[in-house]
Amino acid sequence: MNANRETDQTLPAGCGEIRKLLVANRGEIAVRVMRTARAMGIQTVAVYSDADADALHVREADEAVRLGPASARESYLDINKVIAAARKSGADAVHPGYGFLSENAAFVSALAEAGIIFVGPPQSAIADMGDKSAAKMRMQAANVPLVPGYHGDDQQDDLLQAEADRMGYPVLIKACAGGGGKGMRVVESAREFAAALASCRRESRAAFGDERMLIEKYLTQPRHVEVQVFCDSYGSGVYLFERDCSVQRRHQKVLEEAPAPGLTPSLRREMGEAAVRAAREIGYVGAGTIEFLLDAPQPGSESHGAFYFMEMNTRLQVEHPVTEMITGEDLVEWQLRIARGERLPRQQDELTLTGHSFEARLYAEDPDNDFLPATGVLERFRLDLAGGGLTARQVRLDSGVAEGDEVSMHYDPMLAKLISYGPTREQALETLLRALAALEVRGVTTNRAFLSRLAGHADFRAAELDTRFIERHHDSLF
Ligand code: ADP
Repeated sequence: MNANRETDQTLPAGCGEIRKLLVANRGEIAVRVMRTARAMGIQTVAVYSDADADALHVREADEAVRLGPASARESYLDINKVIAAARKSGADAVHPGYGFLSENAAFVSALAEAGIIFVGPPQSAIADMGDKSAAKMRMQAANVPLVPGYHGDDQQDDLLQAEADRMGYPVLIKACAGGGGKGMRVVESAREFAAALASCRRESRAAFGDERMLIEKYLTQPRHVEVQVFCDSYGSGVYLFERDCSVQRRHQKVLEEAPAPGLTPSLRREMGEAAVRAAREIGYVGAGTIEFLLDAPQPGSESHGAFYFMEMNTRLQVEHPVTEMITGEDLVEWQLRIARGERLPRQQDELTLTGHSFEARLYAEDPDNDFLPATGVLERFRLDLAGGGLTARQVRLDSGVAEGDEVSMHYDPMLAKLISYGPTREQALETLLRALAALEVRGVTTNRAFLSRLAGHADFRAAELDTRFIERHHDSLF
């Protein structure tokens, strides 16, 4: 099945014709990727665990291969099983979605060895961005602004303390090998530094087998603004503008929007160009996101605030639909076209930003009970567009479930994403609120009402955003 590709000298390495695509994921993203594949005339293969034998993504696919038992480790995270499924089905490419194996460099190498296309970046780019300290050094080389801090190899406790004292408190200690907020602590004063460092080292040693730390100035009210980039295999890159994902709960995004409110055209361009430089520095190919912290401008100042590189996500993001809404581009189509060796579908000056879009993440969880994951059978799950006075052009529902499905506790509790579009931020927000109200869910507890309170909050309407929004408004949200 791979003979064609190997003899095709005209395409860059890792690219080739895609007739059949295996989607190595589940839930809404698997369904969403298949939708575009189908529209492009590509056959689709689903993979599933025993808990997902009847899941929506299996029903949507042309064919499906069982991976194993319910546990992710024995199914969606098992590299050998996913590759065996690709071989068995004759798929010539694998789309990893997000999560699971999407940023696993070993998986990318194993696919290459099997002669199967990975719809994503080269293995080296994933590895380069996997270590926070190494990533910062690369970004420095590409002239991408970094949060002031220390990310050197000398790891003596005294030196780290001296660096923290020099930059001034509060500082943030971060594990170089970290992820998911592990091995990370805010330190308010010099007195607390040594104990915090020791505890971060312990946590990181246990979680990642590595105790290297970096220190950053802790920004007290930053916004999370990230730039969508795309590169092809011929060295060209573009940015598809930015998303504001400041509204987070425990570093988990809850509400996202594009564009980021209040960005001046010049800041947008600066951030976009920095993001493309970052991607090119590491020889990136495909869809990627550069996450920045945007420091709030000083009150009364003319400056728009400084932005700093935080990390790069080397995959399609959960929140990619808001970018699709404001650009009119299909990002999965871009990914597949680049993976089959095409050039970027558009040049930078052909990309335009129109209107505004929001995304709300619907989780099976109970906000009134410490966000405990919820399970059950979805007795009812519908979006009554007409009843809400809405049209299909204004609202998009990307769902991994349908009415009658069972929601289990095995995987991420995100059920669906509700995406709204409007000519202005106000109109898109009004549409989101109406769509949330028009969404009927019964049988499983969700965060729907919480999302409505968040989106309807006066400060959210006023776009007064920063990463501590939920924490700060706790009393009025719960
Ligand atoms: P992880 O990889 O563990 O998720 P990140 O480096 O991505 O860690 O940081 C997680 C979150 O912590 C960010 O989304 C941001 O909200 C916050 N954060 C990170 N660095 C800083 C900083 N220097 N100042 C303030 N907040 C930060």
